[in-house]
Amino acid sequence: MRKHNFCAGPCTLPQSVFKEAAAAVENYNNSGLSILEISHRSDAFVAIMEEARALALEMADLQNKDYEALFLHGGASMQFLMVAYNFLQKKAAYLDTGVWSSKAIKEGELFGEAIKVASSKDENYNYVPKNYSIPEVDYFHCTSNNTIYGTQLKEFPQIGIPMICDMSSDIFSKKIDYNQFDLIYAGAQKNIGTTGTALVLIKKELLKKIKPNVPSMLSYQTHIERKSMFNTPPVYAIYVALLNLRWLEKQGGISATESKNRKKAALIYKEIDRNPLFYGFAKKEDRSMMNATFFLKDESLSDKFNDLWQKAEINGLEGHRTIGGYRASMYNALSIESVELLVQTMQELEKNI
Ligand code: PLP
Repeated sequence: MRKHNFCAGPCTLPQSVFKEAAAAVENYNNSGLSILEISHRSDAFVAIMEEARALALEMADLQNKDYEALFLHGGASMQFLMVAYNFLQKKAAYLDTGVWSSKAIKEGELFGEAIKVASSKDENYNYVPKNYSIPEVDYFHCTSNNTIYGTQLKEFPQIGIPMICDMSSDIFSKKIDYNQFDLIYAGAQKNIGTTGTALVLIKKELLKKIKPNVPSMLSYQTHIERKSMFNTPPVYAIYVALLNLRWLEKQGGISATESKNRKKAALIYKEIDRNPLFYGFAKKEDRSMMNATFFLKDESLSDKFNDLWQKAEINGLEGHRTIGGYRASMYNALSIESVELLVQTMQELEKNI
């Protein structure tokens, strides 16, 4: 029996992706070789890489525009460092909306001044700061969705300086204007595929601002020149990303996925607000469509609730260790039925106390 996987990442992926990925491990495309043993220089893998890069740009509606897509090693955390290494000359501005933003700031501080334009740390990151100004800096960095706290930026500032966004936990979940960003990065293990790679979408114009003497492996220029194959890429992770992006396209692309994601979020938040046993963590106007964070008002009911959702074959509902409580992560591949089941278990608890 398959579990209903609400895990924050690595997370649930479409079943068709599991099947195709498993078949490729046995025998990739009837080649007589496993995907795990094909050369990254083979025509077969070059085709995978090129299709994955093209599809990622297409999903962001950045095809034929001035952007490049890369699949790099090191996850989103490597991007905290690469962004600063390549572009932080003197000063950069950061919006501090949680643990991941803070980690990006920490890396920025190694290369120059990393100014926090605003922070929601004062309320344990349960909201997104709105009124702040951005000084003249090398770039502005923000995190579009705060996976741990369940908050999400609904708008981005209109600024005349490069804007860089960590979209690890909400990329390709809804229609937005990707064109407003100069660099977007995302760890693959949520809406892109499985762990082992990070997607970077970068405006070619920004490459002119790369600092001198950036080590080859950490320079965006190197990876673009070598078509994301400077060294041996994570072949399997990129193949899974391709399968997942093809699946997303078949579902009707981001518009269709957005309407499903909106339905799932409406279902869970309606129950959090209705059910007298629970309360939501994030401020309502900043609630994330991807990660719903909530608590039991009476902690003594936690054993009973845990028992109920675990018996319902729900997985990964525990909140992040820094805030506790519960977190329902509802990435693109999670079905509406899984969210309905979670709502039922919350209602069952109410009936049975
Ligand atoms: N940024 C965000 C918003 C995340 O949610 C995460 C992980 O969950 C990361 C960065 C770190 O990603 P990685 O483990 O790929 O370095």
